[in-house]
Amino acid sequence: MPGGVEPSNLDKVFWPEKGLTKGDLIAYFQRVAACIVPAIRDRPLTVKRYPDGIHGFSFFQKNAPKYSPSWVRTVTLPAESAKRDVNYILCNSERTLLWLANQGSVELHPWLSRVGRLERPDHLVMDLDPPEGAFDRAVEIAFLVKEVLEAVGLSAAPKTSGAKGIHLFVPLQRRYHYREVRAAADEVARRVKERAPDRATTEFYIAQRGDRLFLDAGRNAPGAHVVAAYSPRARPAASVSYPVSWDELERIRPEDFTIENVPALLEKGDRWRELMPPPQALPAELRRGPR
Ligand code: ATP
Ligand code: MN
Repeated sequence: MPGGVEPSNLDKVFWPEKGLTKGDLIAYFQRVAACIVPAIRDRPLTVKRYPDGIHGFSFFQKNAPKYSPSWVRTVTLPAESAKRDVNYILCNSERTLLWLANQGSVELHPWLSRVGRLERPDHLVMDLDPPEGAFDRAVEIAFLVKEVLEAVGLSAAPKTSGAKGIHLFVPLQRRYHYREVRAAADEVARRVKERAPDRATTEFYIAQRGDRLFLDAGRNAPGAHVVAAYSPRARPAASVSYPVSWDELERIRPEDFTIENVPALLEKGDRWRELMPPPQALPAELRRGPR
């Protein structure tokens, strides 16, 4: 492997329902590195590790382990809550990506901002969490969010989360503080809820949601993250968070995109880069918040 990362336990089964192994995970990352690395470059990265496969013990890892090789780039940030600083990994190379893969890092969860201006995210994200098994509801509400955004002149790019729902990414100029971006996302959520009070909610407590979709604007915060485009998920289908056009969104299912078929789909080009609108200004109307 590049850079002398020696892979180990390649035959360990990671996705038993599909018979896919740790070797398959590493091979996947190797084949799509040219698309994944740009999507996570310079973003503090949390990885979700599954050393014994998706049904085994797992944990979110924020801190670079003590045994990290010297060539793994990191950025040290004051912790949001804990007393100690966090030494985040920056996955800026294929070598680092494969090293992470070899440690059973199935899921990659980057920040919405990049080093240099960590307090000013370049993405506003709306996380659409439908009730279990209700992907159609996520699609329906995604189009409502699109309408609300378009009414203030904003464009968004959708991707499947690879699990139950959809993530909508609104690329922003790196000029707005997390506080402003969060306020704008809250206002978008409020407008969507107003249009579909029976189908969408911003209710944090699951018991209060009923069969409504949860519009999560809370990801727009330092220390929060959203799974990266092309990241595999710890789901039985070995699904991947995959960018789709608005047209495709109505025709696909999250399980259509897996670590088995995504490398071939990406041979035509980096879908995430192609589908992402250019960085946008945050409209004054959203920055003011509710009136
Ligand atoms: P789905 O479509 O099922 O909603 P999703 O990736 O959006 O898929 P969520 O359950 O909405 O999943 O949110 C998972 C996110 O929550 C992760 O991206 C991660 O940022 C965050 N998260 C959850 N638990 C932890 C934790 N223990 N430590 C850090 N972050 C966490
Ligand atoms: Mn979600």
